[in-house]
Amino acid sequence: MATGAGAETLLIDGIWRNAHSGGHFPSIDPATGDSLGEVAAGDASDVDAAVRSARAAFDERRWLSIPYPQRAKILFDIADRIEAAADELAVAEVRENGMPVAMARATIANGAQAFRYFGGWIGKIHGQTGEIGAGDAFHGFTLKEPVGVAALIVPWNGPFMLACHKLAPALAAGCTVILKPAEDTSLNTIRLARIVEAAGVPAGVLNVITGLGSVVGQALADHPDVDKISFTGSTATGRRLIEASAGNFKRLSLELGGKSPVIVLDDADIDMAAPAIVGGIMSNSGQACHSGSRLYAQRGIYDRLMAAVADIASKLVVGNGLDEATQMGPVISQVQFDRVMTYIDSGVAEGAEVATGGRRRGGSGFFIEPTILSHAPADARVVREEIFGPVLSAMPFDDLDWAIRQANASRYGLAGAVYTTSLSKAHQVARAIRAGTIWINTHRPTDFWTPFGGYKESGWGREGGAEGLDAFMETKSVIARLH
Ligand code: NAD
Repeated sequence: MATGAGAETLLIDGIWRNAHSGGHFPSIDPATGDSLGEVAAGDASDVDAAVRSARAAFDERRWLSIPYPQRAKILFDIADRIEAAADELAVAEVRENGMPVAMARATIANGAQAFRYFGGWIGKIHGQTGEIGAGDAFHGFTLKEPVGVAALIVPWNGPFMLACHKLAPALAAGCTVILKPAEDTSLNTIRLARIVEAAGVPAGVLNVITGLGSVVGQALADHPDVDKISFTGSTATGRRLIEASAGNFKRLSLELGGKSPVIVLDDADIDMAAPAIVGGIMSNSGQACHSGSRLYAQRGIYDRLMAAVADIASKLVVGNGLDEATQMGPVISQVQFDRVMTYIDSGVAEGAEVATGGRRRGGSGFFIEPTILSHAPADARVVREEIFGPVLSAMPFDDLDWAIRQANASRYGLAGAVYTTSLSKAHQVARAIRAGTIWINTHRPTDFWTPFGGYKESGWGREGGAEGLDAFMETKSVIARLH
């Protein structure tokens, strides 16, 4: 952690500033290892200043006192401004995260759309009214109120889009916010914050604190004046947040890890299934919470499917995301690179066969070959643990009930997929897998209205749609005596 010239990446009460300590650290391009710029290393005192700012903005109703049509217009304006800057934002996203530029363009467009979707909710958020007991002595209704000061903690794997997925509903609900990007990917979040400011969100409504998760994230979780944390990240950090937030019973939304099972039946259409399965794991170099990382294929189709999957994976163009031809970029960091390579070695040591990949690609940058491990033992670490890299672990099965039991024999329950041409089997498996999202003959499509989140240790609550918005609100019951 360096000190010196500093880096003005903290936004507190409408002013961009350095960390109180003066500390800063570089943001690294994962394709080259080069520094992209300095990021302020905020600490607990910066967090405290940001929370005070958000609290004052909330208590003074700086955001909610703006008439709702104008608030909605500001969110739509944010969307327009993101789109106007989309090319620059996409390139910046590639340079920080490493993802292919086509994917970056799609995630920036998706981020803009989040502000349109949730902007459309503003003015349409209503409580209910109903009878109170017998007769007409009382009038009862419910009010939907913003939960208050919300801390939004974002991971590095889809930094711009995931920040938008949290910020848009938080603002639509009327919260004031402290946004904390991941330490590896802070710079594009700064650009997003500047867009939000320019669109007319008042000072103090959005605050940004960059810095280490263990320092800034932890200070937000510990802070008694933060009402809500919306977190996307690892299950281990989610558990820490549960413990830390017990102090003032913070509301928590936790979008955590996954180990999504993919079940392929003998009657599946291989031409449809194989590319979708490869896309479902190799997209963003396997660094997606919903990656389909465990493949259970029925024995009658197993060899043909594995040949098709390995063939497609081996032909993926791996390289710098800024190259238009690139289909898979590097993993995010040296730490992640080492972690993924260690998992591949452990899979082989536990008996899996490498169908394709398994090695480093190139001499610099954190590139790993798309890797398919075949005949992985059901209890191998590569089958049980989240790798968060371009590694698919596959095994054959005879009995569908066994495959479903294996699919559910996981601490995670974020997503899953089934490939079959049987309508009834597709729906049977969709119901049987205990996870928040199930895809049939596809992987990855979602929309803003489809709630997203996990069963079991994949998290608490849902993002998206009415449920995602409700997670930023409290419900108040009001009962009035009429006579
Ligand atoms: P991480 O938990 O290490 O970090 C996520 C965020 O939490 C970062 O901003 C980090 O700075 C912060 N953080 C770290 N320690 C903290 C602490 N003690 N207190 C508060 N905040 C802290 O996760 P990661 O490795 O950056 O992200 C990858 C993980 O995110 C994977 O497990 C993946 O499955 C998960 N993920 C889940 C979803 C989902 O929607 N369920 C989406 C994307 C990623």
